[in-house]
Amino acid sequence: MNFPALIDYPAGITAVDTGYLRPRFDAAHLIVHGGRAAFVDCGANSSIPQLLAALEAKGLSRDCVDYLFLTHIHLDHAGGAGLLAKHLPNMKVVVHPRGAQHMATPEKLIAGVKAVYGEEHYRELYGEILPIPAERIIATTDGQRLELAGRPFEFIHTPGHAGHHHCIVDVEHGGVFTGDTFGISYRDFDVEGRMFILATTSPVQFDPEAMKASLARIVSYQPQSLFLTHYGRVTEIARLHADLNADIDELCRHTREAAAAHPRGAARTAALEAALAAHYHARLDAHGDCHTVEERQAILAMDAQLNAQGLEIWWERVEAAR
Ligand SMILES: [Zn+2]
Repeated sequence: MNFPALIDYPAGITAVDTGYLRPRFDAAHLIVHGGRAAFVDCGANSSIPQLLAALEAKGLSRDCVDYLFLTHIHLDHAGGAGLLAKHLPNMKVVVHPRGAQHMATPEKLIAGVKAVYGEEHYRELYGEILPIPAERIIATTDGQRLELAGRPFEFIHTPGHAGHHHCIVDVEHGGVFTGDTFGISYRDFDVEGRMFILATTSPVQFDPEAMKASLARIVSYQPQSLFLTHYGRVTEIARLHADLNADIDELCRHTREAAAAHPRGAARTAALEAALAAHYHARLDAHGDCHTVEERQAILAMDAQLNAQGLEIWWERVEAAR
């Protein structure tokens, strides 16, 4: 199968494959308008050559890039930001206020990620996270607008996947860059143009009610296109919105059932992981997906594991609040 590194959409938007983990897993989006450019998310340090190559392919010099809009600071989205800033001298990094400090002084962020992935895996995936000079960081307020060569973008704070997540509304083009708030939709699971979507509940700030409210807020802009980091443009937004709400409810139900059957610990985690695997297979069967069980697992294993981990952390917060 041929995986294009760049997918061009209308309105000067291109999905750039960051190459992080595997093809068509992690996209940075490039927006070009009036000879100026912005990236939405940037992948990890290993992704930066792909982003620089995309600029070259579009005939843009490195001083054309005004902004890096980071949807949130998880490292598959923001890990390469400091390195990218070194290459692109005019680029300001636009981030949710809860993420701004971590981009300037990433030590706590690095420690948090090591806690999820382990030291060795962390090094292999992310290398050295470089700080971004504070004067090159813009922390957004909810509803704030910024212009790229006169084209307005509105930043809306969208907790649920992470408390440091904002989405970027392309006001005049009916688009929203949704990071991970509006779930994950791998192009591998497209069936005759119909898209498959799943919620991402990865550690450590998943909040189902906040996520549903954020989904409703995104959809309230009546967008025609959403641009997901995982992966690229989706349409059919009303149907995908309903699918995500149902998915969130189901994931929470499986978590409650696993917790009722097992005290915390390995048995509960195993029960939840098995329930999630069965859940995704049933949904993919209903969707008409023809991949084998092994192929599906290769695509979804990491998400299923991270989702289970994030759901258990959410559940422990629910229990602690009782
Ligand atoms: Zn992500």
